[in-house]
Amino acid sequence: MNLYKTIRGVIDGAGNYFFRKPDIEAIFEERLAICKTCPLVKVTEGPDGPVSYVCSTENTDPETGIKGCGCDIDIKGRSFFEPQPCPLARWEEVHKEKIGKKKDNKEPEVFTSKRG
Ligand code: SF4
Repeated sequence: MNLYKTIRGVIDGAGNYFFRKPDIEAIFEERLAICKTCPLVKVTEGPDGPVSYVCSTENTDPETGIKGCGCDIDIKGRSFFEPQPCPLARWEEVHKEKIGKKKDNKEPEVFTSKRG
């Protein structure tokens, strides 16, 4: 991923983090649920439970050898700039079912920060 795409993705995710919309929050919750079961996620615990989830560069998927991207899931999980921002493509089904499917059931549309 190049720097431009990274910056656009962070801006998109941060915007959706600070200005929350129900449809995006629903997708975020589904993405987060997937991350919670992923070997690349790093969880930071607080006194009342988990406080953050990061797609950690310290972790490697045992099947593919792919490392985490280092992104905070609070931001990344709300970003729609990249068609597939998950390094392991685990969010693919969420994309297809929730935000990418056209009415004619053809290929998912490219997601942009101009949605919604
Ligand atoms: S690889 Fe995908 S599912 Fe796993 S922690 Fe990173 S963003 Fe989440």
